[in-house]
Amino acid sequence: MTIIKNYHTHTYRCKHATEDVTQYCQAAIEQGLQVLGISDHTALPDDRWPNIRMPYSELPNYSTAIDSAIDSFNNLKILKGAECEYAPEYHSYFKEELLGDLNFDYLIGAAHYFPQNGNWTGTYGGANTVTGLRAYTDYFIESMQSGLFAFMAHPDLFGNCYHRWDSNTIEASRDIFSAAESLQMPLEINGYGLRKPKITTDDGVRCMYPWLPFWELASEYNILAIANSDAHRPQDVSSNIAEATDIGVKFGLTFADLSYLEN
Ligand SMILES: [Zn+2]
Ligand SMILES: [Zn+2]
Repeated sequence: MTIIKNYHTHTYRCKHATEDVTQYCQAAIEQGLQVLGISDHTALPDDRWPNIRMPYSELPNYSTAIDSAIDSFNNLKILKGAECEYAPEYHSYFKEELLGDLNFDYLIGAAHYFPQNGNWTGTYGGANTVTGLRAYTDYFIESMQSGLFAFMAHPDLFGNCYHRWDSNTIEASRDIFSAAESLQMPLEINGYGLRKPKITTDDGVRCMYPWLPFWELASEYNILAIANSDAHRPQDVSSNIAEATDIGVKFGLTFADLSYLEN
């Protein structure tokens, strides 16, 4: 029996996904998953970026929804997580409140935004310049170094708007791999990117992410990969995990073992 695990799952609370924890758990059982990590876009104490996440006031309800599912689904290992943008001012919140008081099993680091010249820039559309790509990369590495995260989501997200694979993407990617290697921080090959509409660039039609030259370059480093569906609908709870895994296998990457989170 193949063991299927998915550590990246959203709920309706982020405002761009459907259904709640229970429906994802039911779908996970139907699709043969052994481990399901729920990891909605985290609430933030200052309610920053409210358009893609639950308000802070909804955090107890999110946490309780997962706790109840853990109690009621006995044939599925359910983990409580969140997908988080790092900022120093959130460090103690992530550590003491989520991983502490609320007993979250893990946090995922992700850079949907990155700081640039004192302002936050959206990675969708905003990492399309050399300086934007550099700022994204520096922030991504700082997030990894925070020590808060079990793995980093879609490191190649900059491929959504930086269209050419060139010396700048190579330098950025090498910096990410070097840091991930020394921290032994797993990097995610994201299945949601495989389901999203493709983009047309001067070099052809491709997924925004995963970006294949990124993962090919990864093979030069001793890094760990992880494949997830990044489900935003219950029916996608295991979608594209096999295809994302194939990318890692194709380039000879080693996969991370996150079973320690289950203890
Ligand atoms: Zn999302
Ligand atoms: Zn996600």
